[in-house]
Amino acid sequence: MSILCVGSVALDTVKTPFGEVTDKLGGSATYFSVAASFFSPVSLVAVVGEDLDDDLIAPLRDRNIDLSGIERREGKTFRWSGVYNYDLNTRETIETQLNVFQSFDPVIKDEFRSLPYLFLGNIDPDLQHKILDQMDSPRVVVTDTMNYWIEGKRKSLIDLLSRIDILVINDAEARELSGEYNLLSGARWIIERGPGTVIIKKGEHGALMFRGRSYFSAPGFPLDSVFDPTGAGDSFAGGFVGFLAKTDDLSEDNLRRAVIYGSTM
Ligand code: AMP
Repeated sequence: MSILCVGSVALDTVKTPFGEVTDKLGGSATYFSVAASFFSPVSLVAVVGEDLDDDLIAPLRDRNIDLSGIERREGKTFRWSGVYNYDLNTRETIETQLNVFQSFDPVIKDEFRSLPYLFLGNIDPDLQHKILDQMDSPRVVVTDTMNYWIEGKRKSLIDLLSRIDILVINDAEARELSGEYNLLSGARWIIERGPGTVIIKKGEHGALMFRGRSYFSAPGFPLDSVFDPTGAGDSFAGGFVGFLAKTDDLSEDNLRRAVIYGSTM
């Protein structure tokens, strides 16, 4: 089954204890679509500015990701910069420049509207609503978000919860969104507002999935060396949704398998 992914395509400036890069390709939709493309066909909807060199997105084309939904607009591409702490599990956003995203009014092409799997990557929740409004009736809607939107667009984000099936979020964001320190209480708070399933990522410590009264825990995939964890959450979501779309099986057992696939991305 095919996936429509909407999110940011970005130029990231990242500093970790092990190195530094400036204006490298990043963005929630970028990482998601690469990971998901290992399992299922992916079409991407996003906006970029005149300054994004076409060569930068060539690796996405090489993975057969349909890029016909990327709009190029006058202005600068979305930019994000962040600094990681020594354990690479926590980071601080230094700057978010919305640029062309500020006036982005996505129009979903007819052939994308009927796609069965929809991933609303981390972008403005108002845009996530606009995309949902244009879709026919996707079989599954999976959504991600970030502290930037939890703080800046809280009401729109909470309204969105009643329209989606699965929320993928990290532990700090789950605490901030719900106002609950305890993750189980936080997951219940979110589930009460709509999504039947909540996945809470815990960085190198793995991921938790909550559904109704049940929960499932998958360990993080151990790596010899970690250089830059940017996009790890979006790559998790890509593996998770990619596997679900490939198997097209929404049983609890298969969702658990999908969490494990997500953890390996
Ligand atoms: P992750 O490490 O999975 O949380 O995702 C990091 C990616 O999210 C980076 O490549 C950023 O370009 C992108 N990003 C950061 N902040 C935002 C935001 N406010 N809206 C959309 N994308 C963002």
